[in-house]
Amino acid sequence: MHVRTSLAAATATGLLAGLVVATPAGATGRAPDGAEPRPTAKVPTAIGKGGAVSTVDPEASAAALKVLKAGGNAVDAAVAAAATLGVTEPYSAGIGGGGYFVYYNAKSGKVRTIDGRETAPKRMPNDAFIDPATGRPYNFTPELVTSGVSVGTPGTPATWERALDKWGTLSLAQALRPAIKVATRGFVVDETFRQQTLDNETRFRAFKATRKLFLRGGDAPAVGSVFRNRQLARTYTRLGRKGLPYFYRGELAKLMVDVVRHPRTTANTELPVPPGHLSRRDLKTYEVLVQRPTRVDYRGYDVYGMAPSSSGGTTVGEALNILERYDLSSMTAEQALHHYLEASALAFADRGKYVGDPAFVDVPVRRLLDDRYAAERACLLNPARAATKPVPAGDVTSYDGVCSPTKADGVTDADTENISTTNLTVADGWGNVVEYTLTIEQTGGSGQVVPRHGFLLNNELTDFSTVYDPADPNRIQPGKRPRSSMSPTIVLRNGKPFLALGSPGGSTIITTVLQMIVNRIDLGMTVQEAIAAPRATQRNTANTTAEPEFITAYGPALTALGHRLVPAGDAFTSAAEIGAATAIEFGRRGRMTAVAEPTRRGGGSAKVVKRRR
Ligand code: GLU
Repeated sequence: MHVRTSLAAATATGLLAGLVVATPAGATGRAPDGAEPRPTAKVPTAIGKGGAVSTVDPEASAAALKVLKAGGNAVDAAVAAAATLGVTEPYSAGIGGGGYFVYYNAKSGKVRTIDGRETAPKRMPNDAFIDPATGRPYNFTPELVTSGVSVGTPGTPATWERALDKWGTLSLAQALRPAIKVATRGFVVDETFRQQTLDNETRFRAFKATRKLFLRGGDAPAVGSVFRNRQLARTYTRLGRKGLPYFYRGELAKLMVDVVRHPRTTANTELPVPPGHLSRRDLKTYEVLVQRPTRVDYRGYDVYGMAPSSSGGTTVGEALNILERYDLSSMTAEQALHHYLEASALAFADRGKYVGDPAFVDVPVRRLLDDRYAAERACLLNPARAATKPVPAGDVTSYDGVCSPTKADGVTDADTENISTTNLTVADGWGNVVEYTLTIEQTGGSGQVVPRHGFLLNNELTDFSTVYDPADPNRIQPGKRPRSSMSPTIVLRNGKPFLALGSPGGSTIITTVLQMIVNRIDLGMTVQEAIAAPRATQRNTANTTAEPEFITAYGPALTALGHRLVPAGDAFTSAAEIGAATAIEFGRRGRMTAVAEPTRRGGGSAKVVKRRR
């Protein structure tokens, strides 16, 4: 918990101070006050060398690019981009939340990760999601979603500090500088920001501080207007100056605890907003975990993912191990997609049975990622017929790779996650790569802005199971990290980066990452095509959720195989989309192809340091 300085950092800062945001002509928005240009153009593909970035947002990508051009490395740039996303994507990510940071170190050739997941308060009772007034479980919406009881101890500030401290060259203060600038001068509101505000309007109105920040003048910010967040600029400035103690120990910590325990609703709201259990001790003792990634070999590629407390690495990895048993490239697209959906359901069955916070549950990571285990799981995959879902979980305690009757029952996880969160991919000219997914859970988190500080608190604890089964690895326990689906993934070939990718989207994150890998490695798509292709997600539920284009293209053939396709979209979002991925592919002689979504969530922004001529 300290702010570092170093010669490299000082040099980079000097450069940073002198740089101006470089954006192509016509790619900037100017406020009526004639302030500095604000990047608004969303170019989803950039090809070049010397460093690359892809995020959902042009300001965040510009911040990362600025750091890279000034001599910062991928870790510096990733933190700068993430902090900027806290300004421009405040409903998806920010210092009130958590996330998972995956880093490929070009010098050592190793992949390391930081688990910055929010954590349940130490005094949170096991039955925290039971309403004491009625003795019955709280409803997911609105009680749990908009509450203090779902707020976990945030991990994002500590993730940034640790990443910079271990692998970066900038101090936290320096890495926050571009974001402070964006928060101060403001960014141009787009359709997505306005729509997300409107989707949250009722609950944002319920809190004075939230209403004041995001519903100024009583309405969601207009498209094309400039949105400033001076409160957050101040908070970031203080965080940079004072370091982590400012967030985890001081007045701000006290205020966060108070907000969680005594939600500050307006008098006329009908929202119940159950109070939570966060304490100053929780904040003071919060720690990120630096840990090894998961790894599977997939057709000669090394796929590195996030180990538990995320289920991303084990679930993507197990599904790939199952799929590796089939020659997808020789199949029709429909046959290959059938295998993708079935393998995903099998891996999700095991996710539900075995994966939780390893500090509380013995997660059999090695066994789940064992090829012999995958061979046995593949026995349930009928190449000619979709299995009835839910399919049963496997038995990791005894397997020999040989098909035998299975005993366990299938369990369907209630799928309460939705399209929120944000993901970014950064690489530098030295060959270091960062894949980072961060979130405040629901779009709009808990709905509660910390008064005068300009950021939303998460509602991440809704990722715990709401059933009270002692055998459930993801049941609520005090001090535990709720199971995540975030799947920041780095793929190496011959020890060198080939592809880095990730996505938001709750439990669909896993299938989005899996489908993109299959698209790229097996189905012969370019990385641009792999990200743009229509998506479907099978998470061991009776129906397979799919984007409309997917249903149009593959619906008849997959329905004939027994799949039940239903359009994506849920109670919280109007968009019939799955995910909002970012990726970078690495080619020969330092070539990088940075890719963002062409259209989903309004499209993303890819940039490279030196454009290909
Ligand atoms: N809370 C989710 C997770 O950790 C991410 C939020 C989302 O994308 O909906 O898996």
